[in-house]
Amino acid sequence: MKEARFYTTLEDGVECRLCPHHCRIREGGRGLCRSRECQDGKLYALSYGRPCALAIDPVEKKPLYHFLPGTQCLSLSCTGCNLSCRWCQNSDISQVAPEEADNYRLSPEEVVDLCLRRGLPSIAYTYTEPLTWWEYLSDIAVLARGKGLKNILVSAGFVEKKPLQELLPLLDAANIDIKALDDGFYHRYCGAALAPVLENILEMKAAGVHVEITNLLVTSLNDSEQQVDALCRWMVDNGLQDVPLHLSRYFPRYKMSEPGPTPKATLLRARQTALDAGVKNVYLGNV
Ligand code: SF4
Repeated sequence: MKEARFYTTLEDGVECRLCPHHCRIREGGRGLCRSRECQDGKLYALSYGRPCALAIDPVEKKPLYHFLPGTQCLSLSCTGCNLSCRWCQNSDISQVAPEEADNYRLSPEEVVDLCLRRGLPSIAYTYTEPLTWWEYLSDIAVLARGKGLKNILVSAGFVEKKPLQELLPLLDAANIDIKALDDGFYHRYCGAALAPVLENILEMKAAGVHVEITNLLVTSLNDSEQQVDALCRWMVDNGLQDVPLHLSRYFPRYKMSEPGPTPKATLLRARQTALDAGVKNVYLGNV
């Protein structure tokens, strides 16, 4: 447990300023992400040093197709997410509190050591929402950078400006998941908002971070030609036509038992829509 960054003190608790939810948390309470708790008038990051998942993955699995291709990365995750997507593929670790998962005890130094001993060139902060364990991520990233390792963020990008800006100089690559170019969709199905995500992607690009975008096409919810076209036009209008776009196939999970998986024909049509809109590198995922 470590005192959190980015919060203000209130009369009866604290207000977390890490993400746009700005949770007001009373003494003994937790934020929406379940991983930040108010104790004795301070906010604490509960999962610091307690990763719940560690693996070695091909970097293409993040997915990053244009960054260190053919290499493997150390994938690391703690519990916690500030979104609540109804089809979450990792809900057993993203939608639970730290004490509800099995955790390792690993200091930032031990994580970096592990990566070096395995001869891996990068660490990916992934599987849940890494920005909700910002303090651990940031401490590891500083050490990793010092040892010549690359830092990869796999995120939904729903974070406040200040924490993002502090992280940017440490980030080498990011895959950001845009749920849909539709604020109503974000509110209805994901418990978040669109605007901060788009702004943060542009900020990452401007800072020189290698960015790739994922869009999970959920059957009948966000997989229409118009929705894919809107996302791709936003990319092209903002100079992101060279940013790799991963159109990913949905499978029923978590709170969704239906509709069924995205039809392959829908994915192929979406890829053509993206190419027609001017996005140059379009890949299909989960197929
Ligand atoms: S990071 Fe967690 S506690 Fe902080 S505002 Fe976001 S959801 Fe709330």
